[in-house]
Amino acid sequence: MWEELIGQEFSVKTLVSAAKDAKDALNGKPTSSFSQAWLITGPPGSGRSTAAKLFAASLQCEENGCGNCISCISVLKNTHPDVKVITPYGLSYGIEETKNLTKEAAMMPGLGIWNIIILEDADRLTKEAGNALLKAIEEPARFTMWILCAPSSKDVLITIKSRCRVVSLRTPPADEIAELLIKRDGVDKAMAHFAANASLGHVGRAKLLATDEKVRERRSQVLQVPFELKDLPSCFAAAEKLVNAAIEDADLQTDELDEEELDSLMQAYGEGAVGITKRKIERLASGAKKELENSQKKRYKRITRDRLDLSLQELAAFYRDVLAIQTGADIELFHTEMKGSIQRMAENTSINSTIKKIDIVEATRRMLPTEAAELLVLESMTVQLARA
Ligand SMILES: [Zn+2]
Repeated sequence: MWEELIGQEFSVKTLVSAAKDAKDALNGKPTSSFSQAWLITGPPGSGRSTAAKLFAASLQCEENGCGNCISCISVLKNTHPDVKVITPYGLSYGIEETKNLTKEAAMMPGLGIWNIIILEDADRLTKEAGNALLKAIEEPARFTMWILCAPSSKDVLITIKSRCRVVSLRTPPADEIAELLIKRDGVDKAMAHFAANASLGHVGRAKLLATDEKVRERRSQVLQVPFELKDLPSCFAAAEKLVNAAIEDADLQTDELDEEELDSLMQAYGEGAVGITKRKIERLASGAKKELENSQKKRYKRITRDRLDLSLQELAAFYRDVLAIQTGADIELFHTEMKGSIQRMAENTSINSTIKKIDIVEATRRMLPTEAAELLVLESMTVQLARA
């Protein structure tokens, strides 16, 4: 079952032996790598969530992750009652969210061997929320296992990090991503290689690029931005285009999900049942519906931000390609299909200006999570790029 986590042989070995050690520890045998708090780090798209899930399956499985038993299958399908996957609904974890979590963490497992809590985006714990969790992670209940995920360990509160064992994933190589797309998703060879390269090592993004023409279109629009920055109006228009591309991708990701969640909420309040009027259901469900809409809004905001960051990564990679040609570095370009126009930009601009542009994009990436008005931040970036 580990074949889905590509290019991570070293980390897989660590996690597989950790699952064995966890069982030995429960049986009172001495072990070398037993820990009840793990932090899985890796760049976006490298497979942190997949790794966490596979590790959880190995911990719950009698055979340390056979991939075929009921326990393994239910973990992999997100239906195991003793594996909870927690994601922040908004831009960060609030204190209320984590207070409930400490209660969950004190529970005994029902069916499984462990009560496992997978905490996605642990870098988005506010200091207060992190402090609220600290004790639960430091002195976990006997059968509780924490698996935290974050882009890198330096993004996680140091108090939390110091209590976890860290497993670091690397950016998966493009060749292996392409192979996965061919084998798992039936993508043809040329498209698989294009998408793997264009994804900048982001496995989920690679699949979208390979299978959705609109996603490919939006990507090439983003990559036109460097050629469009001429005067103020064109800079503003480009910034708006970047925001819109992120919004359209976020819509694609959330529309269906939002609807499903609303449907199951209304069903829980009796929709479709005999003897209850539609108006009564609406009235009963109105509080919960509002709450759901609020959290969906927050999630939407977060996904849009993440998507915007991806556009900025693509732009930074574009300027890195320009720099590679300008300095004659012998490396494969990120955006190979644009080689001609990258070459032209390399001839018409200086190395200094390219370095400046990469810095501008990277500085914008760092600013984005803390700034409320993303359009303003991007306008400032496009104007600076035009002047660099
Ligand atoms: Zn199994």
